Amino acid sequence: MATETKIMNCITCPMGCELTVTITDGVVTDVKGNTCPRGKKYAENEIASPKRMLTSTVKVTGGLLPLLPVVSRDVLPKGRVLDCAAYLRQVEVSAPVAEGQVICPNILGLGVDIVASRAMEKCN
Ligand code: SF4
Repeated sequence: MATETKIMNCITCPMGCELTVTITDGVVTDVKGNTCPRGKKYAENEIASPKRMLTSTVKVTGGLLPLLPVVSRDVLPKGRVLDCAAYLRQVEVSAPVAEGQVICPNILGLGVDIVASRAMEKCN
């Protein structure tokens, strides 16, 4: 039986509680330092299958600004976030763009859409 302790910060809310997580044979067996039950759930997910939101930018042609901020509609596997960011560097959209418009559906087949986090007007 292999037991280890990890210190991590819960990022579920701005409190950022410092968690002391005991892991036995790859499974979370104890969490201390969480102010609410979501901290325990965060630790369990972080050990079993860590996920992250992605915020980035893509190029825009004909827009008021050269770059459009985008965000993932849901969390992505942490280990694929850099792959997604690299993919988005090759994406280019044309203005106008509406806030929430899907820029990249089902990025890398992960089942998550990348959407515009702001509108982008056309440059006259
Ligand atoms: S444990 Fe609860 S209160 Fe603490 S950061 Fe996580 S969600 Fe926020």
